[in-house]
Amino acid sequence: MIKTRIAPSPTGDPHVGTAYIALFNYCFAKKHGGKFIVRIEDTDQTRSAPEYEQGIMRALNWLGIKWDEGPDIGGPCGPYRQSERKAIYAEHAQRLLENGTAYRCFCTSDRLDNLRKRQLALKKPSGYDGLCRELSDAEIQEKLDAGLPYTIRLRMPKEGETIIQDRLRGEIRYPNDQLDDQILIKSDGFPTYHLANVVDDHLMEITHVIRAEEWIPSTPKHLILYKSFGWTPPEFCHMPLLRNPDKSKISKRKNPVSLDYYKRAGILPEAMVNFLAMIGYSMSEDKEKFTLDDLLENFDLSRVSLGEPVFNLEKLAWLNGLYIRDLSEDQLYARIMSDVLDEARIRAAIPLIRERITRLDEFVPMTDFFFNGSLEYDHALLIGKGQDVAASREMLLAVTDELDTLKAWDHTSLEATLRAFCERTAYTTKQLFMPLRIAVTGRKASPPLFESMALIGKPMCQARLREATRRLELLLGTPKIEE
Ligand code: GLU
Repeated sequence: MIKTRIAPSPTGDPHVGTAYIALFNYCFAKKHGGKFIVRIEDTDQTRSAPEYEQGIMRALNWLGIKWDEGPDIGGPCGPYRQSERKAIYAEHAQRLLENGTAYRCFCTSDRLDNLRKRQLALKKPSGYDGLCRELSDAEIQEKLDAGLPYTIRLRMPKEGETIIQDRLRGEIRYPNDQLDDQILIKSDGFPTYHLANVVDDHLMEITHVIRAEEWIPSTPKHLILYKSFGWTPPEFCHMPLLRNPDKSKISKRKNPVSLDYYKRAGILPEAMVNFLAMIGYSMSEDKEKFTLDDLLENFDLSRVSLGEPVFNLEKLAWLNGLYIRDLSEDQLYARIMSDVLDEARIRAAIPLIRERITRLDEFVPMTDFFFNGSLEYDHALLIGKGQDVAASREMLLAVTDELDTLKAWDHTSLEATLRAFCERTAYTTKQLFMPLRIAVTGRKASPPLFESMALIGKPMCQARLREATRRLELLLGTPKIEE
Protein backbone atom coordinates (compact mmCIF):
# COMPACT_ATOMS: atom_id res chain seq x y z
CA MET A 1 0.00 0.00 0.00
CA ILE A 2 1.37 3.40 -1.02
CA LYS A 3 1.55 5.85 1.85
CA THR A 4 2.68 9.45 1.64
CA ARG A 5 2.75 12.28 4.13
CA ILE A 6 3.39 15.93 4.74
CA ALA A 7 5.34 16.73 7.85
CA PRO A 8 4.98 20.47 8.40
CA SER A 9 6.50 22.30 11.32
CA PRO A 10 3.79 24.51 12.82
CA THR A 11 5.93 27.61 13.13
CA GLY A 12 3.99 30.14 11.07
CA ASP A 13 0.90 30.95 9.04
CA PRO A 14 -0.12 28.19 6.60
CA HIS A 15 2.31 28.42 3.72
CA VAL A 16 1.53 28.00 0.02
CA GLY A 17 4.59 25.71 -0.17
CA THR A 18 2.97 23.32 2.31
CA ALA A 19 -0.15 23.14 0.14
CA TYR A 20 1.92 22.57 -3.00
CA ILE A 21 3.79 19.64 -1.43
CA ALA A 22 0.58 18.31 0.16
CA LEU A 23 -1.18 18.38 -3.19
CA PHE A 24 1.44 16.20 -4.90
CA ASN A 25 1.60 13.77 -1.98
CA TYR A 26 -2.17 13.54 -1.92
CA CYS A 27 -2.46 12.94 -5.65
CA PHE A 28 0.28 10.32 -5.72
CA ALA A 29 -1.27 8.38 -2.84
CA LYS A 30 -4.82 8.62 -4.16
CA LYS A 31 -3.82 7.71 -7.70
CA HIS A 32 -2.47 4.43 -6.32
CA GLY A 33 -5.31 3.74 -3.92
CA GLY A 34 -3.04 4.58 -1.02
CA LYS A 35 -3.11 6.80 2.03
CA PHE A 36 -2.01 10.34 2.69
CA ILE A 37 -1.21 11.42 6.23
CA VAL A 38 -0.47 14.65 8.09
CA ARG A 39 2.24 14.53 10.72
CA ILE A 40 3.11 17.57 12.77
CA GLU A 41 6.84 18.10 13.34
CA ASP A 42 6.71 20.30 16.40
CA THR A 43 9.95 19.40 18.11
CA ASP A 44 11.07 23.04 17.99
CA GLN A 45 9.16 23.92 21.13
CA THR A 46 9.99 27.61 21.06
CA ARG A 47 8.66 28.25 17.57
CA SER A 48 5.80 25.75 17.32
CA ALA A 49 2.28 26.69 18.34
CA PRO A 50 -1.10 24.92 18.26
CA GLU A 51 -2.61 27.93 16.41
CA TYR A 52 -0.23 27.32 13.52
CA GLU A 53 -1.03 23.62 13.49
CA GLN A 54 -4.74 24.39 13.28
CA GLY A 55 -4.04 26.95 10.57
CA ILE A 56 -2.32 24.33 8.40
CA MET A 57 -5.21 21.91 8.71
CA ARG A 58 -7.81 24.61 8.13
CA ALA A 59 -6.03 25.67 4.96
CA LEU A 60 -5.75 22.11 3.62
CA ASN A 61 -9.43 21.59 4.30
CA TRP A 62 -10.21 24.79 2.43
CA LEU A 63 -8.34 23.43 -0.58
CA GLY A 64 -10.14 20.09 -0.42
CA ILE A 65 -7.00 18.09 0.34
CA LYS A 66 -8.12 15.35 2.70
CA TRP A 67 -5.91 13.18 4.87
CA ASP A 68 -6.49 9.64 6.10
CA GLU A 69 -4.51 9.87 9.34
CA GLY A 70 -3.48 12.91 11.33
CA PRO A 71 -3.36 14.59 14.73
CA ASP A 72 -7.03 15.58 14.57
CA ILE A 73 -8.47 12.25 13.36
CA GLY A 74 -5.90 9.83 14.76
CA GLY A 75 -5.07 6.58 13.02
CA PRO A 76 -3.21 3.31 13.54
CA CYS A 77 0.28 4.87 13.71
CA GLY A 78 -0.36 7.72 16.13
CA PRO A 79 0.26 9.97 17.87
CA TYR A 80 0.80 12.21 14.84
CA ARG A 81 2.44 15.05 16.73
CA GLN A 82 6.15 14.62 17.36
CA SER A 83 6.01 16.36 20.72
CA GLU A 84 3.91 13.41 21.90
CA ARG A 85 6.42 10.81 20.68
CA LYS A 86 9.49 11.73 22.71
CA ALA A 87 9.75 8.30 24.38
CA ILE A 88 9.70 6.58 20.98
CA TYR A 89 12.71 8.62 19.79
CA ALA A 90 14.63 8.04 23.02
CA GLU A 91 14.08 4.31 22.73
CA HIS A 92 15.22 4.31 19.11
CA ALA A 93 18.32 6.37 19.89
CA GLN A 94 19.12 3.81 22.57
CA ARG A 95 19.00 1.05 19.95
CA LEU A 96 21.60 2.89 17.89
CA LEU A 97 23.82 3.35 20.93
CA GLU A 98 23.59 -0.37 21.54
CA ASN A 99 24.42 -1.40 17.99
CA GLY A 100 27.30 1.10 17.86
CA THR A 101 25.97 3.29 15.03
CA ALA A 102 25.52 6.22 17.40
CA TYR A 103 27.55 7.53 20.33
CA ARG A 104 27.25 9.90 23.27
CA CYS A 105 28.98 13.23 22.84
CA PHE A 106 29.88 15.14 26.02
CA CYS A 107 31.41 18.18 24.30
CA THR A 108 30.22 21.45 25.79
CA SER A 109 28.72 24.17 23.63
CA ASP A 110 31.78 26.30 24.43
CA ARG A 111 34.08 23.70 22.96
CA LEU A 112 31.88 23.34 19.88
CA ASP A 113 31.78 27.13 19.42
CA ASN A 114 35.54 27.36 19.60
CA LEU A 115 35.89 24.48 17.20
CA ARG A 116 33.60 26.23 14.72
CA LYS A 117 35.56 29.49 15.04
CA ARG A 118 38.86 27.72 14.48
CA GLN A 119 37.50 25.92 11.43
CA LEU A 120 36.19 29.20 10.07
CA ALA A 121 39.53 30.96 10.63
CA LEU A 122 41.37 28.14 8.86
CA LYS A 123 38.73 28.16 6.08
CA LYS A 124 38.05 24.49 6.80
CA PRO A 125 34.58 22.97 6.43
CA SER A 126 32.74 23.17 9.72
CA GLY A 127 31.64 20.01 11.49
CA TYR A 128 32.20 17.94 14.57
CA ASP A 129 35.81 16.72 14.94
CA GLY A 130 34.84 13.38 16.47
CA LEU A 131 36.44 13.89 19.90
CA CYS A 132 33.85 11.68 21.62
CA ARG A 133 33.55 9.18 18.79
CA GLU A 134 35.96 6.67 20.28
CA LEU A 135 35.48 7.11 24.04
CA SER A 136 35.97 3.86 25.93
CA ASP A 137 33.15 2.32 27.97
CA ALA A 138 34.97 3.28 31.16
CA GLU A 139 35.35 6.93 30.03
CA ILE A 140 31.68 7.11 29.12
CA GLN A 141 30.66 5.62 32.46
CA GLU A 142 32.82 8.09 34.32
CA LYS A 143 31.18 11.04 32.57
CA LEU A 144 27.71 9.61 33.09
CA ASP A 145 28.46 9.10 36.79
CA ALA A 146 29.60 12.71 36.99
CA GLY A 147 26.18 13.71 35.61
CA LEU A 148 27.62 15.43 32.51
CA PRO A 149 25.02 16.35 29.91
CA TYR A 150 25.39 14.75 26.50
CA THR A 151 23.96 14.63 23.02
CA ILE A 152 23.67 11.49 20.91
CA ARG A 153 25.40 11.63 17.54
CA LEU A 154 25.18 9.41 14.50
CA ARG A 155 28.46 7.69 13.69
CA MET A 156 28.81 8.57 10.01
CA PRO A 157 30.87 6.20 7.89
CA LYS A 158 34.15 7.87 6.93
CA GLU A 159 34.58 6.11 3.63
CA GLY A 160 32.53 5.40 0.56
CA GLU A 161 29.55 7.37 -0.59
CA THR A 162 25.84 7.54 -0.04
CA ILE A 163 23.66 7.54 -3.11
CA ILE A 164 20.17 8.97 -3.19
CA GLN A 165 17.93 7.48 -5.85
CA ASP A 166 15.61 10.36 -6.47
CA ARG A 167 12.51 9.52 -8.40
CA LEU A 168 12.68 12.78 -10.35
CA ARG A 169 16.37 13.56 -10.38
CA GLY A 170 18.02 10.16 -10.64
CA GLU A 171 21.18 9.49 -8.65
CA ILE A 172 22.58 12.10 -6.29
CA ARG A 173 25.90 11.12 -4.70
CA TYR A 174 27.43 12.30 -1.46
CA PRO A 175 30.95 11.31 -0.33
CA ASN A 176 30.51 10.07 3.25
CA ASP A 177 33.55 11.90 4.58
CA GLN A 178 31.70 15.15 3.96
CA LEU A 179 28.85 14.18 6.26
CA ASP A 180 28.93 15.52 9.79
CA ASP A 181 28.27 13.25 12.78
CA GLN A 182 24.73 14.48 13.05
CA ILE A 183 23.14 15.09 16.46
CA LEU A 184 20.12 12.80 16.91
CA ILE A 185 19.13 13.63 20.48
CA LYS A 186 19.87 17.06 21.95
CA SER A 187 21.12 17.50 25.51
CA ASP A 188 17.56 18.38 26.62
CA GLY A 189 16.40 14.95 25.47
CA PHE A 190 14.53 16.25 22.42
CA PRO A 191 15.19 14.60 19.08
CA THR A 192 16.48 16.55 16.09
CA TYR A 193 14.54 16.73 12.85
CA HIS A 194 16.65 13.93 11.33
CA LEU A 195 15.97 11.26 13.93
CA ALA A 196 12.30 12.07 14.45
CA ASN A 197 11.63 12.30 10.74
CA VAL A 198 13.22 8.93 9.91
CA VAL A 199 11.76 7.07 12.88
CA ASP A 200 8.30 8.41 12.09
CA ASP A 201 8.44 7.77 8.37
CA HIS A 202 9.40 4.19 9.17
CA LEU A 203 6.86 3.58 11.94
CA MET A 204 4.11 5.31 9.97
CA GLU A 205 4.94 3.04 7.01
CA ILE A 206 5.61 5.85 4.58
CA THR A 207 6.55 4.38 1.20
CA HIS A 208 7.27 7.61 -0.69
CA VAL A 209 8.76 10.78 0.73
CA ILE A 210 7.78 13.60 -1.59
CA ARG A 211 9.21 16.84 -0.25
CA ALA A 212 10.85 20.08 -1.28
CA GLU A 213 14.34 20.08 -2.77
CA GLU A 214 15.74 22.02 0.17
CA TRP A 215 15.76 18.68 2.04
CA ILE A 216 18.12 16.98 -0.42
CA PRO A 217 21.23 17.63 1.75
CA SER A 218 19.45 15.94 4.68
CA THR A 219 18.64 12.83 2.68
CA PRO A 220 22.08 11.13 2.82
CA LYS A 221 21.94 11.47 6.61
CA HIS A 222 18.49 9.92 6.56
CA LEU A 223 19.67 7.04 4.37
CA ILE A 224 22.50 6.32 6.80
CA LEU A 225 19.99 6.38 9.64
CA TYR A 226 17.77 3.85 7.87
CA LYS A 227 20.82 1.65 7.38
CA SER A 228 21.82 2.02 11.03
CA PHE A 229 18.40 0.79 12.10
CA GLY A 230 18.47 -1.99 9.52
CA TRP A 231 15.38 -0.59 7.79
CA THR A 232 14.54 -0.27 4.11
CA PRO A 233 14.27 3.40 3.21
CA PRO A 234 11.23 4.82 1.42
CA GLU A 235 11.53 6.18 -2.11
CA PHE A 236 12.51 9.84 -2.31
CA CYS A 237 11.23 12.49 -4.64
CA HIS A 238 12.39 16.06 -4.20
CA MET A 239 10.09 18.66 -5.70
CA PRO A 240 11.41 21.95 -7.06
CA LEU A 241 10.94 24.93 -4.77
CA LEU A 242 8.32 27.55 -5.48
CA ARG A 243 9.90 30.75 -6.80
CA ASN A 244 9.15 34.44 -6.90
CA PRO A 245 8.82 35.84 -10.44
CA ASP A 246 12.49 36.92 -10.21
CA LYS A 247 13.32 33.22 -9.63
CA SER A 248 14.47 33.66 -6.04
CA LYS A 249 13.04 31.23 -3.46
CA ILE A 250 9.49 32.26 -2.61
CA SER A 251 9.43 34.62 0.35
CA LYS A 252 6.87 36.71 2.15
CA ARG A 253 8.90 39.82 1.47
CA LYS A 254 7.99 39.57 -2.19
CA ASN A 255 4.68 37.70 -2.39
CA PRO A 256 2.12 36.90 0.26
CA VAL A 257 2.79 33.26 1.17
CA SER A 258 -0.01 32.63 3.64
CA LEU A 259 -2.93 30.58 2.32
CA ASP A 260 -5.11 32.56 4.72
CA TYR A 261 -4.28 35.65 2.72
CA TYR A 262 -5.38 34.13 -0.57
CA LYS A 263 -8.62 32.92 0.97
CA ARG A 264 -9.23 36.38 2.40
CA ALA A 265 -8.34 37.98 -0.94
CA GLY A 266 -11.10 36.05 -2.69
CA ILE A 267 -9.07 33.40 -4.48
CA LEU A 268 -11.28 30.36 -4.97
CA PRO A 269 -9.82 27.17 -3.52
CA GLU A 270 -10.33 25.31 -6.79
CA ALA A 271 -8.33 28.02 -8.59
CA MET A 272 -5.53 27.81 -6.01
CA VAL A 273 -5.32 24.02 -6.35
CA ASN A 274 -5.28 24.32 -10.13
CA PHE A 275 -2.62 27.01 -9.95
CA LEU A 276 -0.32 25.05 -7.62
CA ALA A 277 -0.69 21.98 -9.80
CA MET A 278 -0.26 23.90 -13.05
CA ILE A 279 3.01 25.54 -12.08
CA GLY A 280 4.53 22.26 -10.94
CA TYR A 281 3.15 19.72 -13.35
CA SER A 282 2.81 19.32 -17.09
CA MET A 283 -0.70 18.27 -17.84
CA SER A 284 -1.30 16.51 -21.14
CA GLU A 285 -1.60 18.91 -24.10
CA ASP A 286 -0.18 21.61 -21.84
CA LYS A 287 -3.63 22.21 -20.45
CA GLU A 288 -3.61 25.03 -17.91
CA LYS A 289 -7.09 24.84 -16.49
CA PHE A 290 -7.98 21.58 -14.80
CA THR A 291 -9.67 20.39 -11.63
CA LEU A 292 -8.31 18.29 -8.79
CA ASP A 293 -10.29 15.35 -10.20
CA ASP A 294 -8.74 15.82 -13.66
CA LEU A 295 -5.34 15.88 -12.01
CA LEU A 296 -6.04 12.74 -10.00
CA GLU A 297 -7.17 10.91 -13.08
CA ASN A 298 -4.04 11.88 -15.00
CA PHE A 299 -1.54 11.89 -12.21
CA ASP A 300 1.93 10.64 -13.00
CA LEU A 301 4.80 11.67 -10.74
CA SER A 302 7.21 11.68 -13.65
CA ARG A 303 5.29 14.59 -15.18
CA VAL A 304 6.33 16.88 -12.33
CA SER A 305 8.41 19.49 -14.07
CA LEU A 306 11.88 20.08 -12.75
CA GLY A 307 11.80 23.62 -14.11
CA GLU A 308 11.22 26.33 -11.55
CA PRO A 309 7.56 26.70 -10.56
CA VAL A 310 6.95 30.43 -10.45
CA PHE A 311 4.32 31.75 -8.07
CA ASN A 312 3.01 34.35 -10.45
CA LEU A 313 0.17 36.42 -9.03
CA GLU A 314 -1.06 37.58 -12.42
CA LYS A 315 -1.41 34.01 -13.58
CA LEU A 316 -3.26 33.11 -10.38
CA ALA A 317 -5.65 36.04 -10.86
CA TRP A 318 -6.24 35.06 -14.49
CA LEU A 319 -7.06 31.48 -13.50
CA ASN A 320 -9.26 32.66 -10.65
CA GLY A 321 -11.20 34.79 -13.14
CA LEU A 322 -11.85 31.70 -15.26
CA TYR A 323 -13.23 29.87 -12.23
CA ILE A 324 -15.40 32.84 -11.29
CA ARG A 325 -16.90 32.82 -14.77
CA ASP A 326 -17.63 29.11 -14.43
CA LEU A 327 -19.92 29.82 -11.49
CA SER A 328 -23.58 30.52 -12.06
CA GLU A 329 -24.84 33.87 -10.82
CA ASP A 330 -26.44 32.11 -7.88
CA GLN A 331 -23.22 30.35 -7.00
CA LEU A 332 -21.23 33.54 -7.32
CA TYR A 333 -23.71 35.36 -5.11
CA ALA A 334 -23.35 32.63 -2.49
CA ARG A 335 -19.55 32.81 -2.58
CA ILE A 336 -19.52 36.60 -2.29
CA MET A 337 -21.90 36.47 0.62
CA SER A 338 -19.91 33.81 2.42
CA ASP A 339 -16.38 34.98 1.67
CA VAL A 340 -16.57 38.77 1.30
CA LEU A 341 -19.79 40.26 2.62
CA ASP A 342 -20.18 37.72 5.35
CA GLU A 343 -22.58 38.49 8.11
CA ALA A 344 -20.03 38.16 10.90
CA ARG A 345 -17.78 40.79 9.34
CA ILE A 346 -20.62 43.21 8.71
CA ARG A 347 -21.85 42.79 12.27
CA ALA A 348 -18.34 43.31 13.65
CA ALA A 349 -17.98 46.56 11.66
CA ILE A 350 -21.17 48.06 13.09
CA PRO A 351 -19.92 48.97 16.58
CA LEU A 352 -16.87 50.60 14.98
CA ILE A 353 -18.85 53.08 12.88
CA ARG A 354 -22.07 53.46 14.82
CA GLU A 355 -20.97 56.67 16.55
CA ARG A 356 -19.62 58.12 13.34
CA ILE A 357 -22.47 57.97 10.84
CA THR A 358 -25.54 60.14 10.49
CA ARG A 359 -27.02 58.32 7.51
CA LEU A 360 -27.15 54.60 6.81
CA ASP A 361 -25.69 55.00 3.35
CA GLU A 362 -22.42 56.14 4.92
CA PHE A 363 -21.84 52.57 6.03
CA VAL A 364 -20.42 51.38 2.73
CA PRO A 365 -17.88 54.17 2.09
CA MET A 366 -16.85 54.23 5.74
CA THR A 367 -16.15 50.51 5.96
CA ASP A 368 -15.01 49.65 2.46
CA PHE A 369 -11.45 48.87 3.61
CA PHE A 370 -12.79 45.99 5.72
CA PHE A 371 -14.02 44.28 2.57
CA ASN A 372 -11.59 45.47 -0.13
CA GLY A 373 -8.32 43.87 -1.09
CA SER A 374 -6.01 46.62 -2.30
CA LEU A 375 -6.28 50.24 -1.21
CA GLU A 376 -5.86 53.57 -2.95
CA TYR A 377 -3.99 56.31 -1.09
CA ASP A 378 -1.27 58.87 -1.50
CA HIS A 379 2.06 57.11 -0.88
CA ALA A 380 3.50 60.22 0.75
CA LEU A 381 1.09 59.75 3.66
CA LEU A 382 3.11 56.70 4.68
CA ILE A 383 5.97 58.89 5.82
CA GLY A 384 6.04 59.20 9.60
CA LYS A 385 6.38 62.44 11.54
CA GLY A 386 9.97 63.68 11.41
CA GLN A 387 11.08 60.80 9.19
CA ASP A 388 12.31 60.49 5.64
CA VAL A 389 11.11 57.84 3.21
CA ALA A 390 13.88 55.39 4.09
CA ALA A 391 13.26 55.68 7.84
CA SER A 392 9.52 55.13 7.39
CA ARG A 393 10.19 52.10 5.26
CA GLU A 394 12.51 50.69 7.91
CA MET A 395 9.88 51.32 10.57
CA LEU A 396 7.09 49.64 8.60
CA LEU A 397 9.31 46.66 7.80
CA ALA A 398 10.20 46.31 11.47
CA VAL A 399 6.61 46.49 12.62
CA THR A 400 5.54 43.97 9.96
CA ASP A 401 8.14 41.51 11.22
CA GLU A 402 7.02 42.16 14.78
CA LEU A 403 3.38 41.47 13.92
CA ASP A 404 4.28 38.35 11.96
CA THR A 405 4.83 36.42 15.17
CA LEU A 406 1.64 37.65 16.84
CA LYS A 407 -0.72 34.70 17.18
CA ALA A 408 -3.68 36.31 18.95
CA TRP A 409 -4.88 38.90 16.45
CA ASP A 410 -7.34 40.77 18.65
CA HIS A 411 -7.37 44.46 19.46
CA THR A 412 -5.93 44.14 22.98
CA SER A 413 -2.98 42.01 21.83
CA LEU A 414 -2.42 44.33 18.88
CA GLU A 415 -2.40 47.42 21.06
CA ALA A 416 -0.12 45.83 23.67
CA THR A 417 2.30 44.57 21.00
CA LEU A 418 2.45 47.85 19.12
CA ARG A 419 2.92 49.96 22.24
CA ALA A 420 5.62 47.60 23.51
CA PHE A 421 7.26 47.82 20.09
CA CYS A 422 7.42 51.62 20.38
CA GLU A 423 8.80 51.42 23.89
CA ARG A 424 11.48 48.99 22.84
CA THR A 425 12.50 50.87 19.71
CA ALA A 426 13.18 54.55 19.14
CA TYR A 427 9.85 55.04 17.31
CA THR A 428 7.15 57.09 18.98
CA THR A 429 3.51 56.08 18.82
CA LYS A 430 2.87 59.34 16.94
CA GLN A 431 5.39 58.35 14.30
CA LEU A 432 4.14 54.81 13.95
CA PHE A 433 0.39 54.92 14.26
CA MET A 434 -0.38 57.28 11.36
CA PRO A 435 1.61 55.43 8.67
CA LEU A 436 0.28 52.17 10.10
CA ARG A 437 -3.29 53.46 9.86
CA ILE A 438 -2.73 54.59 6.27
CA ALA A 439 -1.13 51.26 5.33
CA VAL A 440 -3.93 49.09 6.68
CA THR A 441 -7.00 51.29 6.14
CA GLY A 442 -5.86 53.68 3.39
CA ARG A 443 -7.23 56.71 5.24
CA LYS A 444 -6.16 59.30 7.77
CA ALA A 445 -9.31 59.09 9.83
CA SER A 446 -10.76 55.67 10.32
CA PRO A 447 -12.53 53.74 13.04
CA PRO A 448 -10.19 52.92 15.96
CA LEU A 449 -6.90 51.54 14.66
CA PHE A 450 -6.51 48.35 16.73
CA GLU A 451 -10.14 47.32 16.37
CA SER A 452 -9.89 47.95 12.63
CA MET A 453 -6.74 45.87 12.33
CA ALA A 454 -8.38 43.06 14.30
CA LEU A 455 -11.34 43.04 11.94
CA ILE A 456 -9.29 43.34 8.74
CA GLY A 457 -7.46 40.24 9.97
CA LYS A 458 -3.83 39.26 10.10
CA PRO A 459 -3.28 38.02 6.54
CA MET A 460 -4.74 41.14 4.92
CA CYS A 461 -3.04 43.56 7.35
CA GLN A 462 0.31 41.88 6.71
CA ALA A 463 -0.16 42.00 2.94
CA ARG A 464 -1.12 45.69 3.13
CA LEU A 465 1.88 46.50 5.29
CA ARG A 466 4.22 44.80 2.84
CA GLU A 467 2.52 46.65 0.01
CA ALA A 468 3.10 49.92 1.89
CA THR A 469 6.81 49.22 2.21
CA ARG A 470 6.89 48.45 -1.50
CA ARG A 471 5.26 51.80 -2.25
CA LEU A 472 7.84 53.56 -0.12
CA GLU A 473 10.55 51.79 -2.07
CA LEU A 474 9.03 53.17 -5.25
CA LEU A 475 9.24 56.64 -3.72
CA LEU A 476 12.87 55.95 -2.90
CA GLY A 477 13.33 55.09 -6.53
CA THR A 478 15.38 52.01 -5.82
CA PRO A 479 13.12 49.01 -5.33
CA LYS A 480 15.08 46.96 -2.86
CA ILE A 481 13.55 44.00 -1.14
CA GLU A 482 15.57 41.84 1.15
CA GLU A 483 15.24 38.10 1.47
N1 GLU B 1 9.38 19.35 9.16
C1 GLU B 1 9.92 19.45 7.83
C2 GLU B 1 9.26 20.68 7.18
O1 GLU B 1 8.94 21.55 7.90
C3 GLU B 1 9.64 18.19 7.08
C4 GLU B 1 10.49 17.99 5.86
C5 GLU B 1 10.22 16.61 5.29
O2 GLU B 1 9.23 16.48 4.58
O3 GLU B 1 10.97 15.70 5.59
O4 GLU B 1 9.07 20.81 6.02
